This record gives sequence, C-alpha cells and structure tokens, in this order.
Amino acid sequence: MTELPAALSQLPSPSSQRIALRITSPAERALKQGHPWIFDQSITEQSHEGAPGDLAVIFDDKRHFLGVGLYDPTSPIRVRVLQKIKPATIDTNWFYEKIRTADAIRAPLKEQETNGYRLIHGENDGLPGLVIDRYAETFVLKIYSPAWVPHLKDVCTALQQTQQFNRLILRLNRSLNKQAEYLHGLSDGMTLTPPTPDNLILFKENGLTFECDPINGQKTGFFLDQRENRERVRELSKGKSVLNVFSYTGGFSLYAADGGAKEVVSVDFSTPAAQATLRNIKHNQNKPNVKNAKFETLDQDAFEALAQMKTSGRLFDIVILDPPMFAQNQSQVEPALAAYRRLTHLGLDVLKRGGILVQASCSSRVSTVEFFDAIHQSARETGRPLEEIERTGHALDHPIKYKEGAYLKCLFATAT
Ligand code: SAH
Repeated sequence: MTELPAALSQLPSPSSQRIALRITSPAERALKQGHPWIFDQSITEQSHEGAPGDLAVIFDDKRHFLGVGLYDPTSPIRVRVLQKIKPATIDTNWFYEKIRTADAIRAPLKEQETNGYRLIHGENDGLPGLVIDRYAETFVLKIYSPAWVPHLKDVCTALQQTQQFNRLILRLNRSLNKQAEYLHGLSDGMTLTPPTPDNLILFKENGLTFECDPINGQKTGFFLDQRENRERVRELSKGKSVLNVFSYTGGFSLYAADGGAKEVVSVDFSTPAAQATLRNIKHNQNKPNVKNAKFETLDQDAFEALAQMKTSGRLFDIVILDPPMFAQNQSQVEPALAAYRRLTHLGLDVLKRGGILVQASCSSRVSTVEFFDAIHQSARETGRPLEEIERTGHALDHPIKYKEGAYLKCLFATAT
C-alpha cells in the first residue's frame, strides 16, 4: 500500500496556530515525571480556546518549554502530552520515530510465531489516546479522543512507512460516537483501505491460529494482553482437565489443549464468542494435541455455570477465571472486590485438591494488592488456602509507563 486511504486524505490538517498554556506546580511536577495527561483543572493560563487536535504548548513560569500535546476541549483530560523537555515538530517524521521505537520493542514476538500483538499501547508508547493492534496483514487503529482526527493522516503515513499491511480498520472509543462534528465522516469500524474480498482475519499467536473480528469484537477483536498468561497455561496443562471461565473466543482453551489437556470446558455467556471458540478449535486441527482434546463450549452465565458444576460434583485440575472489567470507577471498587471473592469461592468449589487456580483482573481501579488479598481472603474462608506459583502482569507489547496504565494482574496458585 502506498497511497493514503481516501477517507484520510479528506481530513483537515492540524491547525498551525498553537495554544500556549501554563499549569499548576503539581501538574508541572507530574509532567516532568512523565505523566501523559494535563487535566482541565490544572490549567492556570491559556492563550486562547482551541479545537480538538490543536497543539498545546506548556510553559513554566520562566517561559521555558515544558511539553507539547494534543488539545481536547471536550475532555477533562485537556491535553495528552506527546513530547516533553525538548521542543519538537509533531509531524509524520515524529510519529514515524515513535512507531519505529515501539516496533523494535515487539521484535521478540515475531520470533515466536506471533503476528497478532499491540504495536502501540497508547500513553505507554508515547502516543496517549491511540492504540494500534496488528492482526497479521490487518492493522486496527483505535482513537480515544477527537484530538487525534487531524493527525491521522500523519500517523497513517508513518505507519505505512514502517509496517506492511493490506487493511487498516478504524475503531472509535464509545465516547466519540457522540462527537460527529469532529469526525469529518469517520465512523467506528470503517475500513480505511479498500475492502478485501476475504473478511475473515486469521492471525498467529505463539504458533496457534485465531480468527478475530476487529469490527464487532471486544477490544480490537482479541485480548492480546493475555498472551503470556495463556502461554503459562499451555505449560501447565499436560494431561489435565481445564475449565476456562469467561473464555471469549477460547484463547486460554486452545493453549490448554495444545499443551496436552485431555478435556477443556469453555464458559462465556456470549453466543458469538462461543461460536468463535468452536471455529478457533477448527483452525487448529493441524495440532495433534488440539485434535485429540475433548472440548465442551457452554454459552451460559459464568456464576450459574460454576454453581451448577458444583451441584453436579464436577471437578477440574485447572480453573481459569478471566472476567471483564468489574470496576469502571472508584465507587465500584468494593463491589468489584466482592465479585472477585465470590468468583474465587465458586472457582475453588470446582477445583480438585492440589489443582491450579488462575484468576485475573483487568480493572485498573482495583489495585494489585487489593486484588491478590481478596483472592487469598476468599480462599482461606473457603477452607482452601492458596500457595502462590506466580503473580503476573503485563505482556511485552503492553508496556506500562504511568500509574493509571497498569490494569492487568493475574495469580497462578495451587489450592490445598
Ligand atoms: N479470557 C478471554 C477474555 C475474557 S473477556 C481471552 O483470553 O480472550 C471477558 C469475557 O467475559 C467476555 O467474552 C464476556 O462475554 C464474558 N462475560 C462477561 N460477563 C459474563 C458472565 N456473567 N458470564 C459469562 N461470561 C461473561
């Protein structure tokens, strides 16, 4: 692909007029320490009002340059900082360097039969509010602020200069769907490149084949962030019976089977996800262990399924619990912790003595300590204290560079 997609060439270019800002001392300290956001309340002086995507330059009291970022009058995160300390021109070359740096960090993945990974992890790769995921020849670009719209041409030109792809799909964070005036005709799920005849996207993760649906699927189509935890499950599964709860399209299930699990049960209340799991099993019939494994896929509520399995006395060697985000804001942290405790209890009810519990949380509001404490508390109360094997976090393509960026935590533990 050499030409810029037509949908992008029609977009406005970034305004040449920059906004000058001053901010409070705590915000200045946070900025210097690398925090990527400036909140509206931290702004003490502003030269003029701007439009989404205008570049905002932040100065200190002595009029020294502190940083430059994308201005967004529609969000309390008023500026997403792109560059600090040293001034720079934010153009195709600048984006090119960011993408190239991020690509170099992911190089080891390409040696591992993996062509599905997160190329740009927003703030953590220096591009706040922008995610780019790769699924083989398809790239999915997701924006979380209208401030990215005027810069998409530059971003995509830089992407073309560093990556080979034949399809580019745009995803918009839900909040953007209400901001049509800033989208200039862009819409969620649109294919920016000319559509290809085959709409099914297949990609490889650690040698296994998965399909994904970047337009209708959750996240950008796949939970790429669990790759390393899935690999750990593969290593633990030989000869085991495995229960994968909140299985989505069967990521953990396929790894367990490939690792030699004799029986794999997947539970997810989404019927399309359960159907995709069945197709993913088919895509991997070339793997002898997958071919030989016995699969069962249940589209059922997880809490109900676990309770029913307990009643029928069904037990597993490994139980995986990877629920969706339970806490969207601070007030939901306590209910989320209660739900994690409940899940631990239900999971242990169907786990054999000496079996392995794998429990994850993707709620950034719930701290690592709170989460692990909740699991242990529940396990003790259930009379099945846990012995930890490992606590894990983010995979290589999901680097974490600021506090709020950390969200994924997972415990591998043996239950007495
Ligand atoms: N483990 C998966 C990702 C899980 S995402 C992977 O590796 O790809 C969370 C999943 O939980 C979603 O697929 C969603 O459909 C499912 N889900 C949410 N609430 C549920 C519930 N109460 N019962 C069953 N599934 C649920």
